[in-house]
Amino acid sequence: MATVKRHPRLPGKLWIGTYEFYLKRVHRGDPRLEADAEGMSFWEDSNRGILILDTLDTRHELEVIWHEVTHCVNWVGDIDEDEKPIEGEDIAEKQGVLFTQFFLDNPRFEAWLSFTLKRIRQERAKSDDSADKPAEAA
Ligand SMILES: [Zn+2]
Repeated sequence: MATVKRHPRLPGKLWIGTYEFYLKRVHRGDPRLEADAEGMSFWEDSNRGILILDTLDTRHELEVIWHEVTHCVNWVGDIDEDEKPIEGEDIAEKQGVLFTQFFLDNPRFEAWLSFTLKRIRQERAKSDDSADKPAEAA
């Protein structure tokens, strides 16, 4: 009898610092997502969230989520990306603190991430197997 594995779902909310952000997959053409964007993040009081295009493959989706989470971490950490210069060491210090807090505060994201990384590794292993190369000697 086959065991049914439950796939952790992408959580609908994330804590970043002391701020709650929604996390949603949206279709291409969603008016909230810029025309050619794969992801976007917002941090107005009334609209704090991350949108991810729903057609990305597993690995690329993770990369885009990470990209957007990093923008949000930078906002929370007052790491101004465009205006004032900030030293690399200060960026790394703030990101280290905030990403640690991120993992502590988002256990459902951790479960989804762990599952997603396994899936990406499996897909990568499969594509390695199908590559046109001889099998390794035992
Ligand atoms: Zn960006």
